[in-house]
Amino acid sequence: MNFELNEDQLQVKHSIREFAESEIRPHTLEWDETQHFPDELRPKLAELGLMGIIFPEQYGGSGMGYVEYATIIEELGRVDGSVGLSVAAHNSLCSNHIYMFGNEEQKQKYLNPLTQGETWGAWGLTESQAGSDASGTRTNAIRSNGGWKVNGSKNFITHAITGNTLVAVAVTDKEKGNKGISAFIFDKSMEGFRSDKKENKLGMRASETASVVFEDCYVPGENLLGNEGEGFLQAMQILDGGRISIAALSVGIAQGAYEAAVKYAKERQQFGKPISEFQAIQFKLADMATQIECARLLTLQAAALKDAGKSVTQKSAMAKLYASEVAVRVSEESIQIHGGYGYTKDYPAEKYWRDSKLLTIGEGTSEIQRLVIAKNLLRG
Ligand SMILES: Cc1cc2nc3c(=O)[nH]c(=O)nc-3n(C[C@H](O)[C@H](O)[C@H](O)COP(=O)(O)OP(=O)(O)OC[C@H]3O[C@@H](n4cnc5c(N)ncnc54)[C@H](O)[C@@H]3O)c2cc1C
Repeated sequence: MNFELNEDQLQVKHSIREFAESEIRPHTLEWDETQHFPDELRPKLAELGLMGIIFPEQYGGSGMGYVEYATIIEELGRVDGSVGLSVAAHNSLCSNHIYMFGNEEQKQKYLNPLTQGETWGAWGLTESQAGSDASGTRTNAIRSNGGWKVNGSKNFITHAITGNTLVAVAVTDKEKGNKGISAFIFDKSMEGFRSDKKENKLGMRASETASVVFEDCYVPGENLLGNEGEGFLQAMQILDGGRISIAALSVGIAQGAYEAAVKYAKERQQFGKPISEFQAIQFKLADMATQIECARLLTLQAAALKDAGKSVTQKSAMAKLYASEVAVRVSEESIQIHGGYGYTKDYPAEKYWRDSKLLTIGEGTSEIQRLVIAKNLLRG
């Protein structure tokens, strides 16, 4: 077993850290306050290969593995959770769905522009009545003129407004339950497909989250992903990989919050010495660092197994569950170490905490991760 990143992976880590510090850090508070989605970063992200991290070069991707991918998402999250979330959703949800289940024509038409950063990709599973229980999908697709007529809506969709390409699931046969759900590629040029309300969020405020609506939207037959009835299973497989991104993002946010706490603890003087000299503060920092290290190891383990072509359902759920809860705990402790100043926007601690809360909810809540883990433990 090797617990260290190799030279190439370290190079990737350093270059993303440099980029995040210079191009993202100076704007994080302003983007958060104004809920500005920084689409202007897209060409720079594309130049660094971050719009197609995990895809082969033949589809315009960077050809990297999940270990590199997790490292990149961690580094982005360390500085700004929203940018990390956007890059993660673009790569591992929308683009990966087309890569894993699309045919050659669909990949050429839709995946290449995504990996080249011509647009953001969006992915639509969640609906008002279908959150943790995706089998509650109501959006329906009825056969029409060699294609499908789609009606319904999706909630909480990352890049719903700015993104041009959306992969979403719809019911194609009500009688068949989960096996009657299919996945389609939509693009904004399709009539009857539009974005709707943008959410005003607690955290991750620079990541765009909005709903989409389908009103008699005609989707050509060639935009069906895989076979009819496979959409639900495809979505579950996509989430197995997606959870590695949320775990990595959690590690990054926890790391950023921890570093802010260490810096402050060394600077802040009370009772005639830096607060870092008090054992109570040292114990907090020790616990934070230890939990982050555990979360990182679980995340990289899941990433390495994914790269090795192994099933990651169990390990990615464990990594996501643990790392997301660590991110919330560590960022809360970071506020505590900052005292009253941590409660203000003069320091980054409160933002890390607000951003962290999404991680125990998105791509399957902590409760759902525990169900997935327990189901795997008790199988057989
Ligand atoms: C910022 C943001 C971005 C998002 N981006 C996307 C996106 O790009 N695409 C997309 O499709 N979705 C997206 N989502 C949706 C997200 O994945 C869902 O919010 C999440 O899956 C939970 O669904 P829900 O909100 O409907 O909660 P619910 O499913 O209603 O859950 C409510 C509570 O009940 C608990 N619960 C539910 N079922 C069970 C059970 N069986 N056992 C125990 N507890 C249970 C949950 O854990 C939770 O605590 C995003 C959400 C947010 C906030």
